[in-house]
Amino acid sequence: MVKYDVIIIGAGPGGLRCAEVLSRSDKSVLLLEKNEEIGPKVCAGGLTRKSFRYLNPPDHIVEKVFDRVIFKTFAREAILSFGENLLYTINRKNLGQWQLSKLKNTTVEIKTGELVTEVNSDYIVTNKSGKIGYSHLVGADGSNSIVRRYLGLETKLTGAAFHYLVPTKKYNDIELFFDSRLFHSWYSWIFPCDEYASIGYGYFPKIISSKKAREGFDQWIKKNNIDISGGKFQAHPLNCDYQGYRFGNVFLIGDAAGLVSGFTGEGIYQALVSGEEAAKSIINPLHKSRRISELRREVQIHHFMLRIVRWSGPLRNFLFNLVIFSVRSKFIARTLLRILT
Ligand SMILES: Cc1cc2nc3c(=O)[nH]c(=O)nc-3n(C[C@H](O)[C@H](O)[C@H](O)COP(=O)(O)OP(=O)(O)OC[C@H]3O[C@@H](n4cnc5c(N)ncnc54)[C@H](O)[C@@H]3O)c2cc1C
Repeated sequence: MVKYDVIIIGAGPGGLRCAEVLSRSDKSVLLLEKNEEIGPKVCAGGLTRKSFRYLNPPDHIVEKVFDRVIFKTFAREAILSFGENLLYTINRKNLGQWQLSKLKNTTVEIKTGELVTEVNSDYIVTNKSGKIGYSHLVGADGSNSIVRRYLGLETKLTGAAFHYLVPTKKYNDIELFFDSRLFHSWYSWIFPCDEYASIGYGYFPKIISSKKAREGFDQWIKKNNIDISGGKFQAHPLNCDYQGYRFGNVFLIGDAAGLVSGFTGEGIYQALVSGEEAAKSIINPLHKSRRISELRREVQIHHFMLRIVRWSGPLRNFLFNLVIFSVRSKFIARTLLRILT
């Protein structure tokens, strides 16, 4: 049986970042991806300021830059703008291909079209290569992680998000819509990219059913005359249940670890940072990961905010309107932005 120092399952932003950091070490690394093409993933492609700073992406992979964000409720609208860039959009295929290009001329071995079907304590099994041994395993395999299942971790907080990729250049702003009657504790969004806009909505099936979520979204589309015709429908789960990232010689990163924010749905940043930290811990077993603690704290704050919104019941729409009213104060707006981006 062939054996590697590290096998990474999943070539999303987390797995690719992990491979990039490991490529600078003397470890033998195998990166496995079930899809033939690296990059495409159901995602609105929004980058917050912290993800942008972390990634420092070249211009050609950035689709749009936004120096303002529009928040809307059924009654009010607020525009957040401080004369500086607040959010960015990227195309996930381009992000993946750019990250992949960093692995060229390194010793990292990459296999695509390789679905991992079984995980064991010192080897995994794939559809094409069969058994492959490992010393360290990194589960970077997203919200339906086989590695997480192997570890026996339950996932209690699972969200879902769907969107239409609509071929339009009509939108120039990121718009977020809050309406408890339609969206309960979450929001719907318009995220413009170069050639299309992601128009979607996220929710927790434990809080509202998929049927209700769909009905709320359809009502919102109708009420606001949003044209989604010609749009491609896509949906994907979001794992928001973090229970640790290191389990002996097995690591979980990004969505597999449950690091998606339950409040905003952001997950690219967490995948990148946890990918880097897992790699550093493999290279140096004594590595103390301060950044993972920071990520955990942020995720906890977001979950706390979600809980407040969730339990505010009939006061929820009042709360949304109050926030939108309050962000007229630059101080409150900046504080909110710091917490969320
Ligand atoms: C509709 C929607 C909109 C979103 N919008 C945003 C946004 O605007 N900004 C943001 O930051 N986040 C957003 N997210 C979340 C974001 O997409 C994820 O958090 C992010 O992709 C996580 O990266 P990852 O590397 O952990 O996992 P993924 O990107 O999911 O990558 C996992 C990889 O593992 C592969 N894989 C899975 N199982 C196997 C297996 N058994 N064998 C081999 N390979 C396997 C998959 O094919 C995939 O390539 C959104 C999510 C959804 C659903």
